[in-house]
Amino acid sequence: VTLVAVSKTFDADAIWPVVEAGQRVFGENRVQEAMGKWPGMRARCADPLEVHLIGPLQSNKVKEAVATFDVIQTVDREKIASALAREMTRQNRHLPCYVQVNTGNEPQKAGLPPEHTAIFVRNCRDIHQLNIVGLMCIPPFDEDPAPHFQLLRRLADETGLPVRSMGMSADYAVAIAEGATHVRVGSAIFGARG
Ligand SMILES: *Cc1c(COP(=O)(O)O)cnc(C)c1O
Repeated sequence: VTLVAVSKTFDADAIWPVVEAGQRVFGENRVQEAMGKWPGMRARCADPLEVHLIGPLQSNKVKEAVATFDVIQTVDREKIASALAREMTRQNRHLPCYVQVNTGNEPQKAGLPPEHTAIFVRNCRDIHQLNIVGLMCIPPFDEDPAPHFQLLRRLADETGLPVRSMGMSADYAVAIAEGATHVRVGSAIFGARG
């Protein structure tokens, strides 16, 4: 299981000890914030660092996102898929992408309805030639996460995708038991966010 250390809101001084301890994969949820932190961190580290976008992506930030991140975990609509594809071709940076699924069908939450996942994944690949390798979800915070993780696993199996990004500080152990390949852990590593 790959640990994605979620460093959002923490500055370079707080993140660097985690890099020094050997962590190489990180998650950020804002494009602008990541642009300010990671070029310097990459320059300081002899090994390649892998930075994942785990927050919502707006069309007007696609260019910066493709230049800044190594993996986009939050592809969830046609407009963003086509903008990403265009920009990846322009920059010749063909990043692995995950599709975000709104497993709880929460109206305020990003992600695709579960029943639209298969057709969306197919369109991303066939129409846009995006390199979709997995699915990600954020279960409703007040529910047992296990059924949501099971749903994501089933959808990934049905669409033939090897990567399942699920589980955060409070529930990563459950997610791993349910087949997570990537867990996104922030506060359990960095402490509470201000
Ligand atoms: C902030 C965030 C996390 C990490 O949450 P913690 O509870 O601090 O571990 C994981 N995934 C996403 C999408 C996030 O925005």
